[in-house]
Amino acid sequence: TDSVRQNHADARADLEVLGAFETWIDGEWAPAANGETFETIDPVVQEPICSVPRCGAADVDRAVESAQSAFDATWGSLGAADRSRAILAWTETLREHIDELALVESLDGGKPLSHARAEIEFGIEFIEYYANVVRADEGITLPTSDDQHVYTRTEPYGVVGLIVPWNYAFIIAAWKLGPALAAGNAVVLKPAEQTPLSALYAAKLSKSIFPDGVVNVLTGYGEEAGAALSSHPTVGKLSFTGADTTGETIMETAASTVTPVTLELGGKSPYVVFPDVDIDETVRDVAHGIFYNAGQSCDACSRLLVHEDIAEEFLDALVDRAESLEVGDTLQEGTTLGPIISQAQFETVTGYLERGTDAGATLETGGVADESPVDDGWFVEPTVFTDATNDMQIAQEEIFGPVLTVITFSTYEEAVDLANDVPFGLAAGVATSDIDRAHRAAADIDAGSIWVNGSYATPRPGGPFGGFKRSGIGRELSKDALRHYTQEKTVYVSVDDPSR
Ligand code: NAD
Repeated sequence: TDSVRQNHADARADLEVLGAFETWIDGEWAPAANGETFETIDPVVQEPICSVPRCGAADVDRAVESAQSAFDATWGSLGAADRSRAILAWTETLREHIDELALVESLDGGKPLSHARAEIEFGIEFIEYYANVVRADEGITLPTSDDQHVYTRTEPYGVVGLIVPWNYAFIIAAWKLGPALAAGNAVVLKPAEQTPLSALYAAKLSKSIFPDGVVNVLTGYGEEAGAALSSHPTVGKLSFTGADTTGETIMETAASTVTPVTLELGGKSPYVVFPDVDIDETVRDVAHGIFYNAGQSCDACSRLLVHEDIAEEFLDALVDRAESLEVGDTLQEGTTLGPIISQAQFETVTGYLERGTDAGATLETGGVADESPVDDGWFVEPTVFTDATNDMQIAQEEIFGPVLTVITFSTYEEAVDLANDVPFGLAAGVATSDIDRAHRAAADIDAGSIWVNGSYATPRPGGPFGGFKRSGIGRELSKDALRHYTQEKTVYVSVDDPSR
């Protein structure tokens, strides 16, 4: 325990940059107007990393004003090529600082360092994608009569508000920053209170690349900074990722100013395994899909639907796999699962462990970790529940921890019914060597992304990502995401006959 604490203290001390962190408004660090701060915690050792301002409505006003001024003065009138060049200069700077960014993300989010590094790379790639696609973005010309020329323009909103969760702090910010900036908006980003640091650092690294005020990062709590941002009348567009219930609140708030919202919400995604699969390969993919990031993924495949003919063999292999994963210190090489992000989330997860057992499901493996880097650590072992039915809470509700609920099926129809019998529809996995069944299942399952035979939960920049049902509104990623951050204008020009 002492050596883990010491390693984390040393890592914090190495990151000298942390000492300067405040909130980022108009191209500089700033305190909250009322001077209040809060601590962001390293969940491995449960110690503060640093303090950041606890912003409220007055700070939101300042950040939005700075974004609007930057948009009016320069950014809003730059051409796509110039914006693209600026964004690519920023991503190059981010890459130069990838070691520090990865360490910041690892400490703040409780992620194994190698995972954090891969996530920063992944996020940068998405931002680059939008810097490139915006160069090819174009409007349309409508066919009409000779006396009229009709075309469309796509124009940025001006100031957009981006509100993101803690589970993939950098990636999800990148998914929104890329298209919002490429489309020509200035942004106010509100990171989650648990993980504000990678966004702050990325914003600081944009200094002198973007005009001051193009990127603002407001630290603070959801009900304070987040609520003030989502009700601000100058914000032309809101994009939110987080819990479905928070999405409802944001939509209600945005209704009063008729502000459009994009919502990426939760999931209870099924992974459907038919009997004709390579068991080892599929087990690896399922385990990755549910246990990566300690299960704290919106698209985690938290329900395994497996055909009864192979259920026993599949489960044996899955339990072996789960037990081979290393839970522990994120700065230790070889660790595959870090802690749950916070005490509150840890209690949520352990509550579900109890509810699963109480409802009659069997805990095959997992539970709270016996050993953890610190006493009473927030660590949960990869957990597998069997003998479950789809109406149990552990099958219907998003747990957001490394907890897999396994249900067996006997027919294709039953598998599809089970897959769809939840209020969410974010993602699904399908494993089968029958190509007809693969395509049919992809069509029949109600989910925004479906991975067939591997690579579960690995979105690509060009693939639209978002949810059916309670999992959200709109799609992020793909070139169409630029449309979330622009509004269309149709221009009708009368063309007189010059001979008249
Ligand atoms: P959360 O909704 O509590 O918080 C998300 C963000 O919203 C935070 O920045 C928070 O400060 C802010 N917020 C909270 N209340 C607010 C309010 N009243 N007004 C404005 N902002 C407010 O979610 P969480 O617990 O941080 O994240 C977990 C959830 O996010 C899970 O449900 C998960 O499925 C979801 N998620 C979805 C996706 C996706 O792409 N669909 C990705 C990651 C996470």
